[in-house]
Parts: sequence; structure tokens; C-alpha cells
Amino acid sequence: MNGRGLERRLAPGELARSSYATLDLYEPGRAPVALDLSDNTNLAGVPPAASRLLAELTRPENAAVITRYPSLWAAELKEAVADYLGVPAASVATGCGSDDVLDSAVRAFSEPGERLAFPDPTFAMLPHLAATNALAPIAVPLTGSGLDVDVDGLLGAHARITYVCTPNNPTGTLAGGDAIDALLARADGLVIVDQAYAEYQGVQDGAPALARRAAVDGRLLVVRTLSKAFGLAGLRVGYAVGTPELVAAVDKSRGPYKIGRLAERVAVLALTEDRAWVQARAREVVEARGRFERELARMGRRPIPSEANFVLVPVEDAAAAGAALRARGIGVRPFRAAPGIGDALRISMAPWSILEPTLPVMTEVLRCAS
Ligand code: PMP
Repeated sequence: MNGRGLERRLAPGELARSSYATLDLYEPGRAPVALDLSDNTNLAGVPPAASRLLAELTRPENAAVITRYPSLWAAELKEAVADYLGVPAASVATGCGSDDVLDSAVRAFSEPGERLAFPDPTFAMLPHLAATNALAPIAVPLTGSGLDVDVDGLLGAHARITYVCTPNNPTGTLAGGDAIDALLARADGLVIVDQAYAEYQGVQDGAPALARRAAVDGRLLVVRTLSKAFGLAGLRVGYAVGTPELVAAVDKSRGPYKIGRLAERVAVLALTEDRAWVQARAREVVEARGRFERELARMGRRPIPSEANFVLVPVEDAAAAGAALRARGIGVRPFRAAPGIGDALRISMAPWSILEPTLPVMTEVLRCAS
């Protein structure tokens, strides 16, 4: 017989994996609040073509969109992503948000007990994905005043999977091209580059270039999402770009029917017809971010220069400052004792018409005492 048989009958409390006993549910602290600036979504609203299609698809004559199963592997969505990025459709995997794509990839490209290396701080799901997939998390602090990716530190982990995020959540900083080149040249296992915020990146062409590279570099998987600049977080659509071999492994791990029919139809249209809207809104957010950063400087704060739709602002006591803002109707994401940064608040950016009215409260809570 194969596999390891049980030596005794387990008690109900022992049925879950033993590592789950110490694993908390992912809890980013998102209680409802008047203005939620905690999750880096697009506060300019639903893209217009997507919005029109949503209204149409919920009419009774389109009931099949809800009553029937979706396509197995979201082939039309793969085509639309491929066209958006200039890669072959066979190089695209999709999933129920990029969380799902990352989870599928972590499972597909590692054996239990191996290592998952990532910069610290980075996307908070990484330690969680390591735990749920029985991997050892290796957190490698960002380094220097520029909060750079520590390439040697990451390589020194000899991890089965090395993850970097650019622009990085929560710092908004970029992983330099040299860092990514070095990781791809020398990493022992797969390199995942998470570009959830690519549409906000200053060097506009850098983002698609990396996805195109992933289509031919058998060690690189680029992961992206429609939850941020595309404004579709509630539909849960994420994707990855890699060689057809890597993509096939992600699809096997992910399983069928993960993209709902409504989500696929709307995502395809947004990727096709809403590109100009997405780009224009992203430009507005980048401009608003500059104004907001200047206001923070006036309050005596030094936000970390960001390439994304959020800014990370070092503060003395993130829990207290976050609670004070929340009590005044503004939700932000507090970070405690982040390596190289200390306590900090991550504040999502938005159109200036939304950010400007927050300035009196921001000033009241964040102004430095000096
Ligand atoms: N990657 C990064 C860096 C993120 O910040 C997020 C969302 N906060 C995700 C992935 C997951 O996004 P989604 O599952 O909505 O695609």
C-alpha cells in the first residue's frame, strides 16, 4: 500500500494538519469604515465597459451566466490577458484572484518541507501561503536606505520558491532589474515576481516587458491581478504568465472552474475596452499620490517614495495612529516594527477628490509633535 497509514484513531481536534493549530485566519483588519484606504483597490469605481456589461448580464434573459458552469480553464480570459500583455495565450494561467494563483503556484512548484523565501516586509499572505502549503518561510529583510531586495540573502536561502513583489506591498518600492536578473540567473528554484501594482509603476514599459520575459524564461512566473488598477477586486480575477510548461503545472494545481462566468465575461471586456480608462485613472492616482506625499511632508512625515497606489508612512505607534484614524472614519493598514522601517501606516491612494477631504483628520492624527 502507498502513503503513511494512521497508527491510531484520531480525536476530532487532531483531524486538521498539526501546523494549523498555530495558524490564524488571514485577518488584515478590515471592519467596515466610512472611507476604507486599507486595501489598495481602485476607488475611482468600476471601469465603464465592465459596468455596462455587468448590468446587462444580470438581466433574466442572461440567466445562463449564473445557472451554468463556467469554462474549465477560462480560455477567453487567457486570450484577453495574452493580448493585453503581448504574450501567447498558452503562457497565461488564471485564478480566483492572484491569491489563488499564488497558492496554486506555491503548491505546484514545491514539496512539503522545502523553503519559500521572500523579502520582509512584503505581501502579508506569503507566510500564510508557506504555512498552508507546509513550507518553511524564509523572510529576508529589505536592505539599505532604498529598501532594496537583498539578492544574496534570498539566494542564500536555497529556496524551492523565491518570491519578490514589485512595486512591493507595503513599501511601494521596486525590485531593480539587476536584482531580478541576478535571481533568475542564480536561484535554485522558481522565481515568482508579483506585479499586482504594475499599472502604477513609473517606468511604464517595465511591467509588460517582465511578463513577456516570463513567457520564455522557464524559471520565472509573473503574477498579476485585476483587483487593483482594473477595479474588479470583488470579481476575484488574477493571472500568471510563464512558459506553457509552468502554466500547465499551475492549472493542474489550481483545478477547473475557478473563474466564474460573470467574472470572466466582465474581465475580458475590461481588459479589451477599458484599458484607456484604467491608464487614465492610474495616472490620476499617481498625481494624487505626489500631492498627498507633499502634504505628509508638511505634517513632518517622511513617506517612503512609492511606485504604487499606496504610501507607507513611518509613525511612532502604528496601532495607535491606525485606531485614531479609524475612530475618525478612515481605515488604513498599520504595520508594526517592519524591518528597516519600524512602525508604519500604509495608506491607499485615490482620486484627489477623495483624498483631499481627509487632510484635516490626517493632520490631526499624523502631525509630528516637534
Ligand atoms: N499580491 C499583492 C502584492 C497584493 O497586494 C494583493 C492584494 N492585496 C494580492 C497579490 C492579491 O490580490 P487578489 O487576490 O485580489 O488578486
